[in-house]
Amino acid sequence: MKKNRENSKLQFERAQKVIPGGVNSPARAFKAVGGNPLFIDKAVGSKIIDIDGNEYIDFVNSWGPHLFGHKPPFILEAIYKALEKGISFGAPVEGETKLAELIIELVPQVEMVRMVNSGTEATMSAIRLARGYTGKNKIIKFEGCYHGHADSFLVMAGSGALTNQAPTSPGITAGVLNDTLIARYNDLKSVETIVESNNDIACIIIEPIAGNMGVIKADDDFISGLRRICDENDILLIFDEVMTGFRVSPSGACGLYNIRPDLICFGKIIGGGLPVGAYAGKKEIMQHISPSGKIYQAGTLSGNPVAMASGIATLEFIKANLDLYEELERKGAFLENGFKQVLKKYDLNYFISRVGSMFCLFFIDTEVRNYDDAIKCDTELFSKYFWSMLDEGIYLPASQFESYFISLAHSNEDLENTIKAFEKTIKNFNVSIG
Ligand SMILES: *Cc1c(COP(=O)(O)O)cnc(C)c1O
Repeated sequence: MKKNRENSKLQFERAQKVIPGGVNSPARAFKAVGGNPLFIDKAVGSKIIDIDGNEYIDFVNSWGPHLFGHKPPFILEAIYKALEKGISFGAPVEGETKLAELIIELVPQVEMVRMVNSGTEATMSAIRLARGYTGKNKIIKFEGCYHGHADSFLVMAGSGALTNQAPTSPGITAGVLNDTLIARYNDLKSVETIVESNNDIACIIIEPIAGNMGVIKADDDFISGLRRICDENDILLIFDEVMTGFRVSPSGACGLYNIRPDLICFGKIIGGGLPVGAYAGKKEIMQHISPSGKIYQAGTLSGNPVAMASGIATLEFIKANLDLYEELERKGAFLENGFKQVLKKYDLNYFISRVGSMFCLFFIDTEVRNYDDAIKCDTELFSKYFWSMLDEGIYLPASQFESYFISLAHSNEDLENTIKAFEKTIKNFNVSIG
């Protein structure tokens, strides 16, 4: 059913006059699907409500942070309690140590943690540390992996041209371009080739389960191969677990792969919805950060007491309810099976990729293993699907290349309704396409 989105439309017009593109982060603008974004009034549990009063089942979940759905009472309570004591002090609080201890307890690969305010800050600081620690300059990243918006990461190879780096944004200097080397996801050879011809590589940074080119899981062999290459060449291995940390398992992707990266970046879930990021890892490396070491990194609001309280409530809940990951897996499998049955019924073969509560339907009928595969998807069909699902009351990320996030707040009924909406959508495709 077509929904009235008039108020959102008006607000978007107003916003565009004073904010570039009307949004403070591009993914929110619905540009990839054409049209106006929804302005949100409020949300609770699995539901989000726009300023026209339309209610949606939300699979964006603030792009990942909301493992328990919107405003779970135990996080609200922790935030209120912290607020009453003060908003920010710029001096140490116990909460910072406590959140660090919780991360270390849940992720055995971690010995020390530095808090920052976003995922971008975490990855950008981690590569500075890797460079300072190794005394080397270059980094390897993978095509299609997103590590926030620091200059070094806004570099991608044009598809197929792995040696020809091109920036994804104007404003990136030639020096930065020169220091970022691009390899192909799930392709160990592409990494070996770069490492063989270059002895100035400080680190390899990777999303071990990529969530920013749709959802793509790295092969076990690929990940263990990276660990071996790093060990043999004095290169640090950095897992960017800003999305996967506390999402795919209590110990994130390192837990699933049973791999020990040298550094791990966190964000999203560790703040329980408030702006928190962290980079973490082996003590021997982490203690090179100032003030215990010489590598500088700082933040006026880093370790903010309210944000720490939100993060602590989140991780304490996880620690006390480790079986919640089985529940997320069950919910994810239910949605996946439901979608697969619909596709089968209509004789369609679109590829579904899922790791626990990270989910993506690719509009392509072959497996997606890297960026080149992902960009072959039918993004026009995705747009039609997106708007149809929205009209059926399902709020999905407005791009083919984003993960849906299933939360513990999604009830069986929510998931069943999502599958029903999917069937309606697919049925309409059949009419209009076939
Ligand atoms: C979201 C994300 C980031 C950036 O985090 P921000 O908080 O948006 O700066 C970095 N890496 C990955 C894998 C992400 O998903």
